[in-house]
Formats: sequence, C-alpha cells, structure tokens
Amino acid sequence: MSKKKPRPTPEPAAKIPGLVDAHTHLASTGAVDEAEVQAMVERAARAGVERICTVGDGLDEAERALEAAHYSEAVFAACAIHPVRAGEADDATRERLTQMVADPRCVAVGETGMDSYWIAHDPSGTAPLDVQEEVFRWHIQLAVATGKALMIHNREADAHVIRILGDAPRPREVILHCFSSPREVAREAIERGYVLSFAGNVTFKPNTELREIAGETPPGQLLIETDAPYMAPEPFRGARNEPSLIGHTARVVAATRGMEPEALAAEVGETFRRTYAV
Ligand SMILES: [Zn+2]
Ligand SMILES: [Zn+2]
Repeated sequence: MSKKKPRPTPEPAAKIPGLVDAHTHLASTGAVDEAEVQAMVERAARAGVERICTVGDGLDEAERALEAAHYSEAVFAACAIHPVRAGEADDATRERLTQMVADPRCVAVGETGMDSYWIAHDPSGTAPLDVQEEVFRWHIQLAVATGKALMIHNREADAHVIRILGDAPRPREVILHCFSSPREVAREAIERGYVLSFAGNVTFKPNTELREIAGETPPGQLLIETDAPYMAPEPFRGARNEPSLIGHTARVVAATRGMEPEALAAEVGETFRRTYAV
C-alpha cells in the first residue's frame, strides 16, 4: 500500500507457462467489472499466468475481490480488512467478512497483520497498533475456524507479527505476503513452516539480501506475487503493475534458486494449490 501514482502498465512479460500471482489487487489495478477482470486475466494468461489471488483492503474492495473470483475460474479471492484500516472492522463488517470467507471462491483471510510504517508517515489515516493487533487476532481466529489460509501484511512490524503469530492459534497455512524482512525473520518464519511470498521488490538492485533469502527458502514455502498496482518489478520499477508482469519477478527468483523459470513456475504453482487448497 503506497500513495504514489504509478506510471502506465508495460506489455505483458514473455510467456512462462504455469505461473501464478499469489497476491494482487485487481480492483485497484483497474479491473472491477466482469469484462475488465476477464481482460486482465487474458493479458496475464498471455504471460503464462494460470492462477491469481486477488485481495481487497477494505470491505468494499473485499466484495470486489470476491466478485472477481466469481467472474473467472483463474481468480481466487482473499478477504479481510487491511491493518491500516483496522478501525473499520466494526461488528457489521466482521459479520459480512465471516460470510465472505465462507464462500468457496475465497481461499484466504487477508491481507491482515501489522503496519507501523503508516503510523510513522500518516498517523491520522492509520489505525493505532493496539487496534491493529485486536483485528489481526480476530482474522487469525477466522482463518483457524474456516481452515482458510492466513495472508499476512507486515510493514516494519516484524516483532509484532512474529510475537502475535507465535502465541495465537495456528491456521492451516500462513503466508507472509510481500516478504521484505531481514534474514533472521525469514529463518524463524521458515522454521515455523510459513510461506514467504516475494513481490517485485525482490528484483530491485539494492535488495541483495532479499534475493538471497528467496534463494534459500525451501520449496513448498515460496510463492511469488505482484501486489499490483504497486511494486512493479525491474525493468519497470515505478510503472503501474499488474499480473501480466509477474514473469519478471519469476525470472529473478528462478535465477537466485539456480532453476529454469519453467521449473520455478511448476514449483510455485504446486505451492499455490496446496496453500489456497484449490
Ligand atoms: Zn500488504
Ligand atoms: Zn497487497
């Protein structure tokens, strides 16, 4: 989640069959109605993308995510209230989210977690940490109760996320979306059996440690994602991102793992299916 306005979207990446995008925001990327969702899925398919998990930040966006998952067989939804918007999680919102998560097209509770970045940068527009924590714990319970995956947002909140996940009940699968934390957090997460999902920032030149972590993550615990419309991978950093660009991230992650992109696509495809139970 960023407040900068991205540049236009480049052409789809060269095709790698079997790709997935484990976390994206189709509605914020401009695909809201059925035709727009189909068109975006179609562009992604030209780049080899077969499965997409789309996410909403608030209740309305979560509704759009679930609708998108009903428009296309290739799209699955994750529903939750984003930590910076945790103040919106009133009783009615929680009741509706509980219904949405029960929908078979909703495969994850997310994105939920902790975010102290926006508290430092825009405190008036951000839920305080105690509110974020209570809402995060509510989402964890929902994931446990429904058997859906838990999709974590963690921005500059490593200690909080590790502590809360450590003492809360354990969901079937835990995904750390847009993994950007240091190696010691990666080690702890891997030891606990969590899945690390790498976004376009793994391709950014200065992020050497992040690439090393992507190289060291065991098979079955690694996913790739766009987190579109932001986080476009190199060479398109700063452009408007979308699922059709995931191949650039896949190539970099494959190279760090010493694999062919096609083999990486097969590996993350399997992890996607297990994690989201699809
Ligand atoms: Zn996030
Ligand atoms: Zn996101």
